Amino acid sequence: MKDSILIKNTTIVNEGKAFVADVLLANGCIQQIGNIDGEPNHNIIDGTGKHLFPGIIDGQVHFRDPGLTHKGDLYTESKAAIAGGVTSFIDMPNTVPNILTVESLKEKYEIASKKSLANYSFFLGVNGDNIDEVSKMDTSQFIGVSDDGLYFTKKGNLLADNPETMEKLFANCKSIIAIHSEKEEIVEANEEAFREKYGDAIPAKFHPIIRSTEGCYEATKRAIELAKKHSARLHILHLTTEAETHLFQNDIPLQEKKITTEVSVHHLWFSDKDYERLGMLIKWNPAIKTEQDKQGLLKALLDDRIDIITTDHAPHTIEEKQKPYFQSMSGAPMVQHTLNCMLEFYKKGHISLEKIVEKMCHNPAILYRMTKRGFIREGYYADLTLVDLNSEWVVAKDNLLYKCGWSPLEGTRFQTKIEQTFVNGNLVLDNGVWNETIRGMALDFTKENEH
Ligand SMILES: [Zn+2]
Repeated sequence: MKDSILIKNTTIVNEGKAFVADVLLANGCIQQIGNIDGEPNHNIIDGTGKHLFPGIIDGQVHFRDPGLTHKGDLYTESKAAIAGGVTSFIDMPNTVPNILTVESLKEKYEIASKKSLANYSFFLGVNGDNIDEVSKMDTSQFIGVSDDGLYFTKKGNLLADNPETMEKLFANCKSIIAIHSEKEEIVEANEEAFREKYGDAIPAKFHPIIRSTEGCYEATKRAIELAKKHSARLHILHLTTEAETHLFQNDIPLQEKKITTEVSVHHLWFSDKDYERLGMLIKWNPAIKTEQDKQGLLKALLDDRIDIITTDHAPHTIEEKQKPYFQSMSGAPMVQHTLNCMLEFYKKGHISLEKIVEKMCHNPAILYRMTKRGFIREGYYADLTLVDLNSEWVVAKDNLLYKCGWSPLEGTRFQTKIEQTFVNGNLVLDNGVWNETIRGMALDFTKENEH
């Protein structure tokens, strides 16, 4: 019986290097890296001409389970993730119910253990409704707490708008505090001005002027000041402006940073030029901003002021998107193409393969203190993806795996193809053929007992 997988002669991209070697997977882990002879119990995969990356770790997704499963669920969206080389994800709390208690968090883990093909973890939601309970909890048991998406269900629940709630959290929380950083006050004033002029029919191109640079910058600046005052562990989600990138430092290693941030792949990919073509389909919060912002974000990613890349994968049905401005839902599905997008930047000479792996694999594991993930190392979990860097294809409805069945990237030609994805040593995706008999694992992480 073949109980091990031997990937022969592949180009491994890991820890700042790209080199050709063989990799042996057994018992869920990477057993050996080097020059390895095949044995009868090895299922041999020829990796010649292909690149082997650690599985992507996506630090921010909205898989909509439980309660919003008409948009997506932990089975469909984790499958789309694996098709994109993403082997682990952290999901946000704005499901139904909102994940504001330990009980609802446990239920979500229970659902994932039955449905998710990829490895999973979940933020505990925090807002004005549960701040007193959260302040008393041993928060070191959570991978992180977050308010992301919660303000959609109830206005005024954004931490950035409530300095008192935010300070209470910063003073007490022992885990990572990941916040959605926009000042709703500024956004609302802009909304009113545009509503007066256009009524409900505000063109999508005004979205970045309504959800403005000022709204983002003021919120991020204030959050950082408060986090510093309390020496809290703050992570700013999905940065969108060049201005904000200057609020982050790159003169210490990620391991020592108390203030970290991320860029979501769509903010590197799209700019305000694309509203004309795609309209509400690229309405995200915070908004896609200018070409200059897009360039500034890439620059900050390359010089390490931005630590990780996420997708903020947020599916909605096409009907929910194609409504007038105020009714159109914000967010879009991205998880299936995040690596392909970044590899297009590599093809254009904007970023190296090693840097992509650092920002999508190594750094999320470091930032969220994950155990034995994010690197191609002996003894680590065998989460891997094998990619052909010279294979063209076009994103189309019939190759999307999202439950919502659409993507803002439809019609995009990619030059790279994800051929195989391994999760905990299992070959889950093999050139379009799926092994769906195995489920992902809950992600282990180191508990921080002090902040
Ligand atoms: Zn989000």
